Amino acid sequence: QRSMVRQADRPDDAVDRALRPQQLDEYIGQEAVRDKLALFVTASRQRGESLDHVLLFGPPGLGKTTLSHIIAQEMGVNLRQTSGPVLEKPKDLAAILTSLERHDVLFIDEIHRLSPIVEEILYPALEDFRLDIMIGEGPAARSIQLDLQPFTLVGATTRAGMLSNPLRDRFGIVERLEFYSAAELSRIVQRSGRLLNVPMDEAGAMEIAQRARGTPRIANRLLRRVRDFAQVRADGHINAEVARAALDLVGVSPLGFDAMDRRLMEAIVHRFDGGPVGLDNLAAAIGEVPDTIEDVIEPYLIQQGYLQRTPRGRVLTSHGLLALGLPLG
Ligand code: ADP
Repeated sequence: QRSMVRQADRPDDAVDRALRPQQLDEYIGQEAVRDKLALFVTASRQRGESLDHVLLFGPPGLGKTTLSHIIAQEMGVNLRQTSGPVLEKPKDLAAILTSLERHDVLFIDEIHRLSPIVEEILYPALEDFRLDIMIGEGPAARSIQLDLQPFTLVGATTRAGMLSNPLRDRFGIVERLEFYSAAELSRIVQRSGRLLNVPMDEAGAMEIAQRARGTPRIANRLLRRVRDFAQVRADGHINAEVARAALDLVGVSPLGFDAMDRRLMEAIVHRFDGGPVGLDNLAAAIGEVPDTIEDVIEPYLIQQGYLQRTPRGRVLTSHGLLALGLPLG
């Protein structure tokens, strides 16, 4: 029984991996970041050096993990993947660092959640490809140094501001990923549709793209739900009408916000009189943790002009009121 449940969550993960672009020229959008990375990768390869360390930041689902895989692929090296919270002890990181081969890419997701003692051993590793570790305890303790192979750290974080300064300073390449335009998301949806063998016209792809919160991961997820709908309630073909009906069914508004966005905006209107309201009060009102509001929910609403962050708290804009279908003032 349990294994069936687990299997039931699996297909989406497998689909996610199958849809992941493998090369820089398959990576849609983020032109500026892509151009720069292509240049830096070429330059490092010509010199026979490892690529400088890369920090990627931006909201979840915009393609940071995908880009780290592509960097490894373009450099022609292996990728090791881990995350800040998984690296509990210095020795966890030391084990990974010593196993890296020349010019490999180490991807650390949620790098802002590294513990300070782990971060400490990362500094000399990043700077001089050297590991300083303590062996033994008490009076017998001594520190030893190990040389590492030159490698590239790719760190990902939702907010660059949460990194300590010394860590941030050690990245030579710092890039922010932006929300995608509907046109870009539509190309992503069409590419995914081809890979999944789902017949779809352009208007159908655009309908999904417009409701995907500027985020490829959400676009691909919505595509899967629309595909289900098209298969069972229509003839399997995704057009605008089928997409619209399916997305209405799963509760995504035509303006692209979902149930959580709506909850947050409605709470500001109905419980805090439109704001300003402090983050913690808002979080308590909608039963979310403040980090999720700041990292996941808010960035898109702010980018779209529905919400403003002011020194006194969050305020819903008139644009936000209109989006909710509420009268102004
Ligand atoms: P993040 O690491 O920023 O949370 P991911 O790299 O896991 O995001 O991306 C989520 C999904 O979105 C991936 O599975 C990939 O299929 C898709 N994706 C992300 N960026 C792009 C892109 N630029 N072009 C095409 N698909 C993308």
